[in-house]
Amino acid sequence: MPEGHVTHRIVKDHTPLLTGRQVHVSSPQGRFAADAALVDGQVLDKIEAYGKHLFYWWANGLVGHVHLGLIGKYRVALAPDAAVLGQVRMRLQTDLATIDLMGPMTCALISPEDRDAVAAGLGPDPLRRDAKAAVAIERMAKSKQPIGQLLLDQKVMAGVGNVFRAEALYVASIDPRRPGRDCSADELRAVWDTLVAMLRKGVKDNKIITIDRSEFAVPKGPTKRGETTYVYHRDICLRCGTPVQIAELGGRACYYCPTCQPR
Ligand SMILES: [Zn+2]
Repeated sequence: MPEGHVTHRIVKDHTPLLTGRQVHVSSPQGRFAADAALVDGQVLDKIEAYGKHLFYWWANGLVGHVHLGLIGKYRVALAPDAAVLGQVRMRLQTDLATIDLMGPMTCALISPEDRDAVAAGLGPDPLRRDAKAAVAIERMAKSKQPIGQLLLDQKVMAGVGNVFRAEALYVASIDPRRPGRDCSADELRAVWDTLVAMLRKGVKDNKIITIDRSEFAVPKGPTKRGETTYVYHRDICLRCGTPVQIAELGGRACYYCPTCQPR
């Protein structure tokens, strides 16, 4: 599943192609056709990312809500009328580009009030300027759940997925099985700050590279899972060579190094 850096990168890349322009909105596949008709030809004021959610603010007051889910993705063509390939749920066309959305978990038109309700159910997003770190830190500090599980809980903080949780806990030297309330305020702050830095770097790199370039060589070109991380999807810890362990937390495998992250 895409992590929060993906949605923020989409905003960065798509905004200059879509906002402030009249957008032809359609649904070649048909499943979004009725909603598309309600905003077709409107000007798009803003695209907003909040955790793994995207919101499209249309000039007529309606809001498009997209969640990519496991397999959703966009395809951008720098042409006003590109060929339709595959199952395109939502197609956005301006004089500059054609942007197609395929396979999303959610693609719907909602009201601003509904958008606020979605946002209210999310914890702070480390990539947003309005994020209140203290809210996420307090939610973790009060919980007896393992911190590895808390980081995936979108109500605690929004946008962190399986790779960043493992890597941030590794960098902060915290065993993912430790209850949130057993971590010190300094440790929880360090986890937040590490996630802010990692996610920002993810937006810039447009992929997940958590290892320090000054310390380790980052492979050139496309990389495979586990090539640019300390413990995620690795057999042995990149720093110390200890066999990496897996704890099942939040329904997903959380990788950690028992030596670098003592209990
Ligand atoms: Zn290690």
